[in-house]
Amino acid sequence: MNDIRDGQEMIAIVERPEFQTYWRVSKEMIDVCKECEFRFMCMDNRIPQPRASETWFHEKECPYNPYICKWKGEEGYRTLAECGVVSNAEGFSIDHERIAAINTELWGE
Ligand code: SF4
Repeated sequence: MNDIRDGQEMIAIVERPEFQTYWRVSKEMIDVCKECEFRFMCMDNRIPQPRASETWFHEKECPYNPYICKWKGEEGYRTLAECGVVSNAEGFSIDHERIAAINTELWGE
């Protein structure tokens, strides 16, 4: 068991670089999330992964797809891949035409 005996031990933990790694990583810096309407209040517990290009991504897909405003399980839901959105260690790309076609089908616009 790792008991913290005094405030100095807590300060030492908090000052460690590995503890601070994610302090400055906001949803606005993470691909997919940066375009989601829930990004300012989202309580996501996934750990973001950095790319060499100093951009960020998630390895596991969120159950919400912000490109079509649908949650997994909702009628009409599609995965990111089905929408032509790729976000992984290699990079980030969006097929805007495919998303537009899906939104027309789902929402009639
Ligand atoms: S709901 Fe999902 S896509 Fe939207 S900000 Fe939260 S984790 Fe990202």
